[in-house]
Amino acid sequence: MRNLSKSKLLSHRQCPKRLWLELNRPDLAEISAATQLAFDFGHEVGDVARKLYDPAGEGVLIDAQRDGFAAAFAQSRKLLASSQPIFEAGFVAEGALAFADVLLPATQDGKRVWRMIEVKSSTAVKDYHRDDIAIQAFIARSAGVPLASIALAHVDSSWQYQGDGDYRGLLVEHVMTREAFARSDDVQSWIEAAQHTALEQSEPDLRTGAHCTSPFICGFIDHCRAQEPTAEHPVQWLPHPTNVLKNYVARHAVTDMRDVPDRLLSRQQLRVKEQTLAGKAFFDAEGAAKDLGKHALPAIFLDFETIQFAVPRWQGTRPYAQIPFQFSVHRLEPDGTLTATGFVDLSGDDPSEPIARALIAACGECEPIFAYSAGFEKARISELAARLEELSAPLLAIHERIVDLLPIAKGRYYHPSQQGSWSIKKVLPAIAPDLSYGDLAGVNHGTGALVAYLEAVKPETTPQRKAEIEEQLRAYCALDTLAMVRLWRFFGGARATGT
Ligand code: SF4
Repeated sequence: MRNLSKSKLLSHRQCPKRLWLELNRPDLAEISAATQLAFDFGHEVGDVARKLYDPAGEGVLIDAQRDGFAAAFAQSRKLLASSQPIFEAGFVAEGALAFADVLLPATQDGKRVWRMIEVKSSTAVKDYHRDDIAIQAFIARSAGVPLASIALAHVDSSWQYQGDGDYRGLLVEHVMTREAFARSDDVQSWIEAAQHTALEQSEPDLRTGAHCTSPFICGFIDHCRAQEPTAEHPVQWLPHPTNVLKNYVARHAVTDMRDVPDRLLSRQQLRVKEQTLAGKAFFDAEGAAKDLGKHALPAIFLDFETIQFAVPRWQGTRPYAQIPFQFSVHRLEPDGTLTATGFVDLSGDDPSEPIARALIAACGECEPIFAYSAGFEKARISELAARLEELSAPLLAIHERIVDLLPIAKGRYYHPSQQGSWSIKKVLPAIAPDLSYGDLAGVNHGTGALVAYLEAVKPETTPQRKAEIEEQLRAYCALDTLAMVRLWRFFGGARATGT
């Protein structure tokens, strides 16, 4: 019997097949950029937590990757006799192993006891954290750790960074001792079940479903989907399924949208179903032209790229605040002339004021400003206005001019190739097949832009690489606004002819 780590036990809680694949075919897993980013956020929060829980720097950090598990377990046992904070202490018992983020010494009835804290980069306690904490407590106690309490510390998204590296208040702690200790029997049964799966000779025969993305996006999803028959009209393309629809699909094992009764579908879902089955696009050209007719040229097309940090880097910002570091603007004149401009700040400093000033300069006086899913751009502009008092009035004036193209696209157009999505990356190939995000080098999606930013601002990134990243970011963001121009022209019909 091998000892299974806490993360393996949690994988098994999500899906037995996932655990089996992690143990036997880890090469099949694909780590998405978003998943990698979440790991990186976790590490950053962990680093800050060590400083917060050990301001005097008296603690010991155990490095199992460097020293090996056996050495880490032995060092942990030894340190339990001390009075120092311990980070990443490792324990093994009952066929499972775990590493504790933080162990703090305490005294109870004259004896040495320990307070355990698990640190998470999320902004709330999630259900799967309760399993995590229960497993952690069970393994530590089974290994003989005198645990007085166990708590979960997560990021407080309402906290505001005041600068000078002072992160006191970033984490909020929830003591979960009683519920964790009460679940020992549950954890034991989870370990038994996971051990059973680990011994299986062949891959468990399990189908994909809602569990593949919750609580974590499973890296084996492409592998598992490739094993399943592909429906001609996949039911997953029906957008925004209600619980009623989800339950019907699960209960009747529906894979093809043909087998979903129309009475369970919203207007939008029904449109997706009808157009998909017919293999034809829906286009209310008159309605789209009427929608756009309310807004005269010249017009501006705007898109932002933003950066987020679990641990804020800039004074006055909050954890996970979306801070724009780049925009692209296309400007369309009544005679059809199209000009482009943009802004990117890769200095690593707070880009808020420079981008706000550049935005005000690029957005003219009174033209309509089109954005796609404009709530995002509007929210970022409101936030900038709230932080930059001096620029608040012109920023709020820009905010008032923004027109959302997404509701027009949703209400007036659908092509089966969109596969139930109105993201601009899905709509663009249908109406402007000559433009493609796939042709972009490097950055070709939002998370990719965020990852590129993080690489660009690292001190070790060479000027050449930084310049390359900047070029890729500019091309990506510019394609977003050019895509909007093409949408506008397509939807504008006769009015747009010649532009
Ligand atoms: S993709 Fe879904 S079915 Fe496949 S291993 Fe992951 S969670 Fe299990």
